[in-house]
Amino acid sequence: MAAPQTDLEKRKQISVRGIAQVENVGNVKKTFNRHLHYTLVKDRNEATPRDYYFALAHTIRDHLTSRWIRTQQHYYEKDPKRVYYLSLEYYMGRSLTNTMINLGIQSACDEALYQLGLDIEELESLEEDAGLGNGGLGRLAACFLDSMATLGMAAYGYGIRYEYGIFAQKIRNGEQVEEPDDWLRFGNPWEKARPEYMIPVNFYGRVEDTPQGKKWVDTQIVFAMPYDNPIPGYKNNVVNTMRLWSAKSPNNFNLKFFNDGDYIQAVLDRNFAENISRVLYPNDNFFEGKELRLKQEYFMVAATLQDIIRRFKASKFGSKDQVRTDFDTFPEKVALQLNDTHPSLAIPELMRILVDIEGLSWAKAWGICVKTCAYTNHTVLPEALERWPTSVLEHILPRHLQIIYEINHFHLQEVSKRWPGDMDRVRRMSLVEECGEKRINMAHLCIVGSHAVNGVAAIHSEIIKRDIFKDFEEMNPEKFQNKTNGITPRRWLLLCNPALADVIAEKIGEEWVVHLDQLTKLKPLAKDAGFIRAVQTAKQENKMRLAKQLEQDYGVKVNPSSMFDIQVKRIHEYKRQLLNCLHIITMYNRIKANPGAPFVPRTVMIGGKAAPGYHTAKQIIRLICAVGRVVNNDPIVGDKLKVVYLENYRVTLAEQIIPAADLSEQISTAGTEASGTGNMKFMLNGALTIGTLDGANIEMMEEMGKENIFIFGMTVEEVEELKRRGYNAHDYYNRLPELRQCIDQISSGFFSPSNPDQFKDLVNILMYHDRFFLFADFESYIKCQDSVNKLYQNPNDWTSKAIMNIASSGKFSSDRTIAQYGREIWGVEPSWEKLPAPHEPRDTDITREEAK
Ligand SMILES: *Cc1c(COP(=O)(O)O)cnc(C)c1O
Repeated sequence: MAAPQTDLEKRKQISVRGIAQVENVGNVKKTFNRHLHYTLVKDRNEATPRDYYFALAHTIRDHLTSRWIRTQQHYYEKDPKRVYYLSLEYYMGRSLTNTMINLGIQSACDEALYQLGLDIEELESLEEDAGLGNGGLGRLAACFLDSMATLGMAAYGYGIRYEYGIFAQKIRNGEQVEEPDDWLRFGNPWEKARPEYMIPVNFYGRVEDTPQGKKWVDTQIVFAMPYDNPIPGYKNNVVNTMRLWSAKSPNNFNLKFFNDGDYIQAVLDRNFAENISRVLYPNDNFFEGKELRLKQEYFMVAATLQDIIRRFKASKFGSKDQVRTDFDTFPEKVALQLNDTHPSLAIPELMRILVDIEGLSWAKAWGICVKTCAYTNHTVLPEALERWPTSVLEHILPRHLQIIYEINHFHLQEVSKRWPGDMDRVRRMSLVEECGEKRINMAHLCIVGSHAVNGVAAIHSEIIKRDIFKDFEEMNPEKFQNKTNGITPRRWLLLCNPALADVIAEKIGEEWVVHLDQLTKLKPLAKDAGFIRAVQTAKQENKMRLAKQLEQDYGVKVNPSSMFDIQVKRIHEYKRQLLNCLHIITMYNRIKANPGAPFVPRTVMIGGKAAPGYHTAKQIIRLICAVGRVVNNDPIVGDKLKVVYLENYRVTLAEQIIPAADLSEQISTAGTEASGTGNMKFMLNGALTIGTLDGANIEMMEEMGKENIFIFGMTVEEVEELKRRGYNAHDYYNRLPELRQCIDQISSGFFSPSNPDQFKDLVNILMYHDRFFLFADFESYIKCQDSVNKLYQNPNDWTSKAIMNIASSGKFSSDRTIAQYGREIWGVEPSWEKLPAPHEPRDTDITREEAK
């Protein structure tokens, strides 16, 4: 357990970790020992590393508590406009190191644990990831929470506390095997249950027409129990709240059975209701119309809106005894941001509350609803768009279906008024799709019910305007906006890459941590020999550390002086991991054809989870592993080429891999990847990108200049032209011998000798049904990879471009993204002011209970 000697020297260096204050170190040690004794009930003879992790987590949590309470009191006193981020996913990863960094106590904790003879990095590695997300969408929500707290916004993340997050991926015999993610098994030190604030949520039932209006009756109730999680801003004493709901059966659940005498069965059946928050659906960019998923979506939205309205009514300026009943000011006090259509039921639910419960007129309620809500679109892939059958909605949420029909009625009236007689337009713009099974188009509902609709990168925002939402843009052009995604520089540089963070801080100080634009100050250093060397040293350190980790965890040996060529993201046909695989096979064939020729050594690493029901994605994993087995065991290949499948890609693995990358693969078909955020993480960590003109890659190129990125393949216009002309994979197969060789090898069983037909489905897709035109980009991809090799042979030129990447990544801070959401959608200004620290006096001394 003792920390190795070499780390002492590192810790003593002046670094972005700061200098440990003696009094803080003493306090941390005292608090740590107290928690080990009183919270963990262990002494140092019995304590396990996990006990030490929990003692440390509780110690750090203590530093959050006063700031958390005082931040919420401050919001109560000042009553600023609240921002509510509604998301079915929060891909948070670990909290311990991030909390230490944002509170500014990392160096004190390092020193204290060192003095206690404990290895803090080992303890950090024992924390389970909070894997409550699938990929980019969920990680975006997590980055946004960090930025909203850092920008001092009165913001809340609302979501579901899944008992099981994204499954753990095992690779067994070259195949994905899923294991449930029992992340709460040892307890979660970062959450505070609030059983006293449970909220009822209704399902099923029927609608009654009464003289006072519609009433939703005979419903079944499930309770939503809130769990609050602290979200610390970076060194500003702000701690916001992420409130996650967990399903609880009411005590009288299935009383019917109880009265029939089957008490045991009544208790057992409580599980049914509590299944709502049991497990995250593991689909990324795919709509699976399951009833339980609809229940999750409504459960989250219904509990959240009740909570928001309670807080609105109880707010100070509504005055204590006279609760606020006037909803006119609601849009001035509340902003709701819908992360994709997953929380789209917020729109009919808010209408139901305002009309059926609060008694507002439809027109007034609708005005409030539209002014309050805003919707972020994340994809244009048709298979990802939520379209719930009306039959399912009618069964589970009968009143909401009526309200949706009513919204549609008024909406189509407007359409007809504007375009009289244009029945085709009315059909296209309807919230109700009538062809085949009758369905509600949830994106249409969101557009109609929101005052702002945004895409997540410039090209994506243009595509939604001129393609999938064209009719809506013609009707309300003022609604459509762009908000290019971003990532938090705290987690994605300061935390995950201290070596590079130190090299940067030595030259330009630390302001970049909260003003990432400051990185442009590195541009004059792109040709500075000393700085190039320092950046190279940091990268090499990160590569060696990853190589050591890979050998330790998986027994794979990689050469740390080879180029680390990395593609990590969910496995999806549109992301084109198969194109990467064709490049690997091409390199292999070239080595075999000419073993003596010079070759730039590469380690290609591919990682990512496939949705368990996505057959083609699972086949892609099998093929990559099969190719890897042949390549890695061929003595002729030797050290020139290695293929590694990175098991169980998740936030924590991303933090270890990305700082070690030389080359980042961002190779989706132009027009399919809405933004990407993985691309930004690599750029910030000094990897060069090989990519298509898709998503945020385009804006990355604009920021750094096209000489600093490897761009290949069709533009979105060329893809559209190819679709019009008709794509024929055989044209490319016949014309390109290297491509033909790859495909022939895959289809003849070269990589699967014991089962030659193993990959015939994949070959069939590529040759006959390829929606993503891999062969059309093959030639330009291979040529581009050749130019990558050429540059890699000149390390200083390579690193110079890497520095230009780092120096140009300021735009991709989620702080910039959130400031734009604040100013252009929410009507909330960022504030860089600090709240007073817990030991500092405040202007108003309050101990009011209402600040919850
Ligand atoms: C950033 C991130 C993603 C998103 O990656 P893309 O390449 O943008 O799809 C997915 N998963 C994890 C764990 C991430 O950290």
